Amino acid sequence: MPSKRSLENIYIALLSPVAVYALGWALYNFPSSVVDMRLGGLAIITVFFSSFLRIQLPRTKIHVTTSDAAIILTFLWYGGETAIILSFLEAAFTSVSYRRQGGNIGYKTILINIMVAVVGLFATTVIVHAMFSSEAPQVVEAGDVTQMILLLAVMGFALFLFNSTLVSLFIAAKTEKSVLSVWTEYCLNALVMYLSGAVLAGFTTKAIQDINIFLFAAVCVFFGTVYLTYRRYINDIKTTAAPAEKAERQRAEQAERHVRELKHYVEQLERSGAELKQSHARFRHAAYHDALTGLPNRNYFVDTIRKLIEQKMTQPLVSYAVLFLDLNGFRKINDSLGHSVGDQLVKQVAGRLLQVQRKDSIVGRFSGDEFAIILIGDADERGATEFAQSVVDTISQPFILNSKQVFTSVSVGIAFGNLNYDEPEEILRDVDIAMYFAKDHGNEYEVFDEKMHTRAVSLLELETDLRYAVERNEFELHYQPIVDLKNLQLAGFEALVRWNHPTLGQIPPDRFIPICESTGLIVPITLTILETACQQTVDWQKRFSESPPGFVSVNISGVHFGNPSLVEQIKDVLHKTGLNPQSLKLEITETAIMENGENAVAMLRQIKELGVQLSIDDFGTGYSSLGYLQQFPIDTLKIDRVFVRSMEEGRQNGEIVRAVLALAGSLSLDVVAEGIESIHQYHQLRILSCDYGQGFLFSRPLAAAAAESLLSDPNRWQSLLAGGDFAIVNPEYESTSYQLH
Ligand code: C2E
Ligand code: CA
Ligand code: CA
Repeated sequence: MPSKRSLENIYIALLSPVAVYALGWALYNFPSSVVDMRLGGLAIITVFFSSFLRIQLPRTKIHVTTSDAAIILTFLWYGGETAIILSFLEAAFTSVSYRRQGGNIGYKTILINIMVAVVGLFATTVIVHAMFSSEAPQVVEAGDVTQMILLLAVMGFALFLFNSTLVSLFIAAKTEKSVLSVWTEYCLNALVMYLSGAVLAGFTTKAIQDINIFLFAAVCVFFGTVYLTYRRYINDIKTTAAPAEKAERQRAEQAERHVRELKHYVEQLERSGAELKQSHARFRHAAYHDALTGLPNRNYFVDTIRKLIEQKMTQPLVSYAVLFLDLNGFRKINDSLGHSVGDQLVKQVAGRLLQVQRKDSIVGRFSGDEFAIILIGDADERGATEFAQSVVDTISQPFILNSKQVFTSVSVGIAFGNLNYDEPEEILRDVDIAMYFAKDHGNEYEVFDEKMHTRAVSLLELETDLRYAVERNEFELHYQPIVDLKNLQLAGFEALVRWNHPTLGQIPPDRFIPICESTGLIVPITLTILETACQQTVDWQKRFSESPPGFVSVNISGVHFGNPSLVEQIKDVLHKTGLNPQSLKLEITETAIMENGENAVAMLRQIKELGVQLSIDDFGTGYSSLGYLQQFPIDTLKIDRVFVRSMEEGRQNGEIVRAVLALAGSLSLDVVAEGIESIHQYHQLRILSCDYGQGFLFSRPLAAAAAESLLSDPNRWQSLLAGGDFAIVNPEYESTSYQLH
């Protein structure tokens, strides 16, 4: 099946030679003698006006135009050749002007229109020639009405048949419809056009021939009707066009609005683009700077160090050092004086660092109270340590915060950029290790060396080991007696944990509790400790019923104290072990309470509601104001051993113990003095009416079995009352002897 396009082309190819021949034949045989004014007028009317003079038949798309009548008239009066030429001109003019006016008609269709008109008329001419003995004008001249009617009928039908068939063929070639269905659908109706054209031509001819007034009037009426209908038609078009025009105008306005909106949108887009650029710059700044101080941040440092490392490949002589600073006791200041004061301090520190910085140095803040400085050039050991000293000196000057003088100090780690560093994180890691080394050893600054790294690594190993320690049951509780200072009877025990490391031996809590806190292991470990201590106490209270331990004190870390499930956990342990809640005392440090802010009071109340006693540990070392004590539902204050120790040295700290005791008295709180090592301290505390005491003087912390020997000998400290000799029990545990390799 050939495609539509090729069928169309075949049609044109077949029709065009016939059309060319017909037109050539018409031109060749055109009787130039017939050219007169009448023909000229007829030609002008036919070509230029006849297509406009038409009537649309009601409920059809068919327009009866005067052009067919004019062509038939020409045929009648001047013969087929003239009619062909005129028809050619008319078809060409009508199609082209229709197209010019914006009609939807292609050149191919125009060509077909013209060809159909020419070929149709040519065929009609041939038929007329064959059917009539003389030419059409002669038939007209002969005046035989019957012959004339026959001629008109033949012309009308023939024209209709040829034209409609040719058009149907073309449409059928273009569409997928059959020729017959196209013919019946589109062309059959057109018969009326040709017949009415023929009738009109006949009447016109007759009217002119006979000079018949009536006939002429009828023709005039016809043309008048045609004209009026045309007028109405034009008006109709105008009225139907009016809403269309309005719609068009609205569309145009809409389009204009749309364009305006679009412009507005584009402007907005451009504006927000600019804003985006700006905020991009802001984001960049925020990404590389610290909001509080405006100093470069860690990202900035990482980038800068990376550049320095890369530079080393090409400029190995450029030396640089990184200093890492951490304020000492910043957390306490923050907790006790509030965060806004902490922020003020950070800002002032930043200001001082900027003052002491060198030409080629960069000062930055990493987080909280951590600062870093990069020294570029003059970064040998002497230069860097001198610089570190100047930093230490400037920070040790008093700060004025909220019109109060506050002192702080700083620990500084120093690391030098060397060829071994490939990544900025490596030097930052080392400088961090050096800083912690300085902090741990109470030094102002420390230059990194490999040994520190080994130590840090072993700390890391310790952390790994800790994870297994719980499973392997490597923790052991020791119990240190708390003694009633009035009668020197055992009041209770403080449970203190020890870690029996499989290879490193016994590790004191100061070394591993902070690791547990930072890893979260503190919660499960504390629960084990709590349960063991409670169970042990229940057991002892039963077995040593004559002089039972009144309570056991268990230390609760600040991290765990902030955990909302603590209350439930304590309840569970009490339930499980059956210990009287009154016999359990929880020791929470002043700092831990302050760290938990507003939650602390609620937490303490909930614990208190369980019937458990509460004790504030290391009292006097935190930055708390004494006023808060009233709000807390606590039972006991434990005076930190530094105050007890200094009592002996006769310094003013003795006054602190006195003040704490007075305060506790007014709040009806018990007081436990920690770290009593000498008889002198004991006597002084007794004079000051301190209720309880704990310390090496009475006993070091003991394993459970050794503690039992204390329980079975309740009068062992009585000799102290009389001022007699006293031996320390089990001195083998040295809490300060442990060193990591
Ligand atoms: P702490 O709560 O202040 O415990 C008292 C510490 O002082 C114990 O050190 C104890 O051995 C030591 N001590 C007692 N009497 C004297 C004395 O007369 N002179 C001297 N110099 N020291 C004395 P230990 O057992 O090494 O514990 C250190 C810290 O570790 C404890 O301080 C406590 O904060 C923490 N800790 C110990 N056990 C636990 C525990 O089970 N849980 C938690 N969260 N922390 C614990
Ligand atoms: Ca304690
Ligand atoms: Ca303590």
